[in-house]
Amino acid sequence: MQLRYNFRLYPTPGQRAALARAFGCARVVYNDGLQARQDARQQGLPYISDGELSKRVITQAKKTPERAWLGEVSAVVLQQALADLNTAYRNFFASATGKRKGPKIAPPRLRSRKDNRQAIRFTRNARFSITAGAKLRLPKIGDIPVRWSRDLPAEPSSVTVVKDAAGRYFASFVVATSDVPLPESAADVGIDLGLSHFAVTSDGRKVDNPRFLRRAERRLRKAQQDLSRKAKGSNNRKKAVVKVAKAHARVADTRRDGAHKLSTQIIRDNQAVYVENLAVSGLGRTRLAKSVHDAGWSSFVGMLEYKAARYGRHFAKIDRWFPSSKLCSECGALTEAMPLNVRSWQCPCGAVHDRDVNAARNILAAGRADRLNACGGTVRPAA
Ligand SMILES: [Zn+2]
Repeated sequence: MQLRYNFRLYPTPGQRAALARAFGCARVVYNDGLQARQDARQQGLPYISDGELSKRVITQAKKTPERAWLGEVSAVVLQQALADLNTAYRNFFASATGKRKGPKIAPPRLRSRKDNRQAIRFTRNARFSITAGAKLRLPKIGDIPVRWSRDLPAEPSSVTVVKDAAGRYFASFVVATSDVPLPESAADVGIDLGLSHFAVTSDGRKVDNPRFLRRAERRLRKAQQDLSRKAKGSNNRKKAVVKVAKAHARVADTRRDGAHKLSTQIIRDNQAVYVENLAVSGLGRTRLAKSVHDAGWSSFVGMLEYKAARYGRHFAKIDRWFPSSKLCSECGALTEAMPLNVRSWQCPCGAVHDRDVNAARNILAAGRADRLNACGGTVRPAA
């Protein structure tokens, strides 16, 4: 399995300048490639192949005075920029012809120096390495200090260097890891991703968004308000934009840390993990949109999924048609529609339910049933 490991980088001013040059060159090659294909299309010429494109916008371009400076950065960085363009085209074609499911993908767009995120990728061919002094050595850039927050489990196959909107630098290593099954656990769990809590488990555990996340979110809201009051084009506005980006980054980091801790713990403790298939994009259109996106569930669910695969656990999403909060997990009776403000209810069978824990228990039951019937169709509760 391929995993990403991200670490903060602290380039020197000279290295920052070299990185800015590399970001710029990668962007130019990407845009030149895109432009060449768009021109060919307008002139009714055939689609330019990946190999031909690389020859035109890298090899031949370097020989012209206008693009001679492309030679100042690692050739691998330029090739990888084109590889990104080719992937963007393939995804677009697959989406347009219906081969790829999910929301429609737009055709590739020009990259701008004003984009929030600048990135370049070095593969093994680029001979990047980690020095004896634990710095990241990048060709034509230098040895960059890294804050190693954990060990890399194996030799990385590539590294992407990213500069985010807050002006921070990161190295994102791709490492192929072998799966490491954990000892079997007897427990399994259903998880309800509720609105009153971040997550509620079938064993009755309720996990809130941590207080420091709420604090970071408050700070973000304040920074956004400050920004909206600044005059367009002013220097103060520029400063406020950076402030918002920094506050944003802090919220995202905090949320990711929390999701990592929780998903690791759940995967370690349980042999099978079931969550409701949220179809987040569907919910996103309603007025719940903000809380749905804010809670960052989809990234949490993604973590559960890859950690389950890695540690030999079973993971499944339960479909949304399943009325998890309206079904009594004791007797299987269905109550009528329940407004979101109803937090607990009593079933005619006598069982008193906490809304979210009951939902998590139903998700667990549906997951177990699906798993037992894995060879047949899915089991649906009698309506
Ligand atoms: Zn009941």
